[in-house]
Amino acid sequence: MSVFHYQNNILHIESMSTRVLALDYGTPLYVYSRQAIEQAWHGYADTLGDRGLVCYAVKANSNLAVLNILARLGSGFDIVSIGELERVLAAGGQADRVVFSGVAKQADDLKRALQVGIRCFNVESLAELRVLNTVAGSMDLQAPVSIRVNPDVDAKTHPYISTGLKHNKFGIDITEAEKVYHEADRLPHIRVVGVDCHIGSQITTLEPFMDALDRLLQLVDRLADQGIVLEHLDVGGGIGVQYQESDTVPALSDYVSQILAKIGKRPQQLILEPGRSIVAKAGAFLTKVVYLKETADHHFAIVDGGMNDLIRPALYQAWQEIKPVKQRFGESVRWDIVGPICETADFLGHDRLLTLQQGDVVAVMDSGAYGFVMSSNYNARNRAAELVIDGDQVHVARRRETIKDQMALETILKS
Ligand SMILES: *Cc1c(COP(=O)(O)O)cnc(C)c1O
Repeated sequence: MSVFHYQNNILHIESMSTRVLALDYGTPLYVYSRQAIEQAWHGYADTLGDRGLVCYAVKANSNLAVLNILARLGSGFDIVSIGELERVLAAGGQADRVVFSGVAKQADDLKRALQVGIRCFNVESLAELRVLNTVAGSMDLQAPVSIRVNPDVDAKTHPYISTGLKHNKFGIDITEAEKVYHEADRLPHIRVVGVDCHIGSQITTLEPFMDALDRLLQLVDRLADQGIVLEHLDVGGGIGVQYQESDTVPALSDYVSQILAKIGKRPQQLILEPGRSIVAKAGAFLTKVVYLKETADHHFAIVDGGMNDLIRPALYQAWQEIKPVKQRFGESVRWDIVGPICETADFLGHDRLLTLQQGDVVAVMDSGAYGFVMSSNYNARNRAAELVIDGDQVHVARRRETIKDQMALETILKS
């Protein structure tokens, strides 16, 4: 049974009524299921066993409580900023299970990461490699490095979340990679340990991953012939999730076992960096219908959550299912579910067949990934609260912001 289910016509998350949660904690509100996060993580980790490490991509949902759930399981973490590193450490994550990606790591970032002893730097350019060598040298250390290669494969996902094509800013062109490895091998404060790639997000077939892996393995074998034997192979983010019925996605375990099969008897450990597929399905975004507004050709349900809270629909034309928190059995019409922000792009869903009344709460499903983390204070709105549900226990993972919180960092002129 899904962690989200109806009981007496009320949508529940684990054993808790989302209606009660919305009443007690207010809306808009993010709710996450601990059980769903743990299950998804095990979907990868149990198949992987001792052949490697799952490094959860922190950017998908960086709430401390979420990171803590994963740290307790022994997860690794993929970070893209120092802020994410500090969050991982504060949540009880182990530095030696952290890999550090990102195209713009600066000297201070590299220094801090070296200080705490992360597992690996996923280096994205020759310039970064040289700065890392200098910084590590000043600390009398050797930096463990994996070169992020760009395998030039089409992930066939939304262009904004496609990262493995030649024209993207990420990684080092695979045809250049050998040269970079040889330079890395010569630098005194660099220790070459791996190779990595990340071709994009919300990929729903295994083919692009397997194409990228084939190219990566050719490189690994060529390097081995030249005396550079890598310790690990990192294939980047996880598979896409099923947002709507027409999306077909492979099982997490199939994804891992097919990769392991391709690696075969090679000695390398496997690192995976799934984000979305660990947390997306674990979360819902609850928002209340403030007004129903009928125009000549549209039914608008105006809700109290908007694109500042959940930007995926506005940014990527992403479709997420919208369910009523309380099922009603009257006449249903097709609603445009729109937010309070002064932008026409501010919608959560178009043309949704629902039976709604003013004051009802709806749940935007599959909002655990790239939801709260992409939220902002646009229109001077307080960011939503976040709850972690564990059976019938409610943990306030982040309290709702106040107007005072919003203004705390700002000052008016003195004269
Ligand atoms: C975003 C990102 C991920 C996570 O991708 P998902 O599709 O959320 O699994 C992993 N690795 C890197 C380098 C990323 O930028």
